[in-house]
Amino acid sequence: MHKIADKLMQVEARLQQASQLAHRQRDSIALLAVSKTQPAASLQAAFDAGQRDFGENYLQEALDKKHLLAAMPICWHFIGPIQSNKTRPIAEQFDWVHSVDRLKVAQRLSAQRPEALSPLNICLQVNIDDEASKSGVAPAELKALAQAVLALPRLKLRGLMVIPKPSDDPAQQRAAFTKARQLQDQLNQTLNIELDTLSMGMSGDLEAAIAEGATIVRVGTDIFGARN
Ligand SMILES: *Cc1c(COP(=O)(O)O)cnc(C)c1O
Repeated sequence: MHKIADKLMQVEARLQQASQLAHRQRDSIALLAVSKTQPAASLQAAFDAGQRDFGENYLQEALDKKHLLAAMPICWHFIGPIQSNKTRPIAEQFDWVHSVDRLKVAQRLSAQRPEALSPLNICLQVNIDDEASKSGVAPAELKALAQAVLALPRLKLRGLMVIPKPSDDPAQQRAAFTKARQLQDQLNQTLNIELDTLSMGMSGDLEAAIAEGATIVRVGTDIFGARN
């Protein structure tokens, strides 16, 4: 069997075990294959093994691979930092954006989303550990950003995305994900909305994320192997 197909099966087994432990349905959690720096052939191998959602971080690299795989019915997610002068191809060519952390970017994505396409699915990236150097909206500014994004006609606000500080300690991993879930609960209550997406959990911490309610886990290394 192809190595990528094999690894996908191993990740699938982890997802099943983690969802069972959390008393959740397996199908309440989507697997996003994070394919940054991987060649199109690796995405093709994952696609052939049944994977349909792919996440990319670097715009030009993503567009090159999209072009090569144009015949495939892939759901494309942009998950990397966004320069505000490069929003148009994201608005035109992606189905989801997980890394929106400021209003200017959201406004441009909405204005540039083609009328022929459904509204762009958006997660707000939250700087959950409040690290000075990290991207993501500060928790204290999340509500105002969410309100402004909700008013943009060509975006569909779906939820939050977080990248906690890496940790090997399951308790510490879980604490950051708890915070994300609580922030989303608060938003839903105070704004009377129903955000349904928590994009959290990667190769090293997907079990903790699923225990805290992740609905999309973003896995790179454990599907495609280590990146250079
Ligand atoms: C690279 C990346 C991932 C995947 O990380 P792995 O540890 O390789 O699973 C997930 N989310 C984002 C935003 C990333 O940049």
